[in-house]
Amino acid sequence: MLSSQENDLRWMAEALSEAMRAEALDEVPVGAVVVFNGECIGRGHNTPIVSHDPTAHAEIEALRSAARAVGNYRLVGATVYATVEPCLMCMGALLHARVQRVVFGCYDSKFGAAGSLYDLSSDARLNHRIEVTSGIAEGECRELLQRFFQKKRGSSKGNSESENRGEEETEQ
Ligand code: ZN
Repeated sequence: MLSSQENDLRWMAEALSEAMRAEALDEVPVGAVVVFNGECIGRGHNTPIVSHDPTAHAEIEALRSAARAVGNYRLVGATVYATVEPCLMCMGALLHARVQRVVFGCYDSKFGAAGSLYDLSSDARLNHRIEVTSGIAEGECRELLQRFFQKKRGSSKGNSESENRGEEETEQ
């Protein structure tokens, strides 16, 4: 039987493989999976640029696929693994879905809403709390992002607009 940290690492590896799919599409490499009763019930990766959809973040895509799979818009008792700290929008969606727990890899100081900029996981004004575990496979999750932005900067010399975008945005 796996320890809880081994279990978290195992599912984070799945989220990382989703992040690599985003990278292959030239999207910011963020991936997520939804786990319920020891089973992966949904997965997703970042696709806002290719799908022309500002809401197409990994966590939202994973929630959509999980909710469809179980035929319920609420995912009570589910754990969501995301390679990067969820943003405001994604934390909002995770709260709506009533997920029990969020596990993420690296912090996002620009958009993070599970401890960095905001902490929506335990706001007393909201009617749901989410248990948060951070720093699982943090190095790998961050490395993927850094490599992506380094490559972007390298390939967009003289194009200050995309250079700025690469530096400023962590998740989109
Ligand atoms: Zn998000």
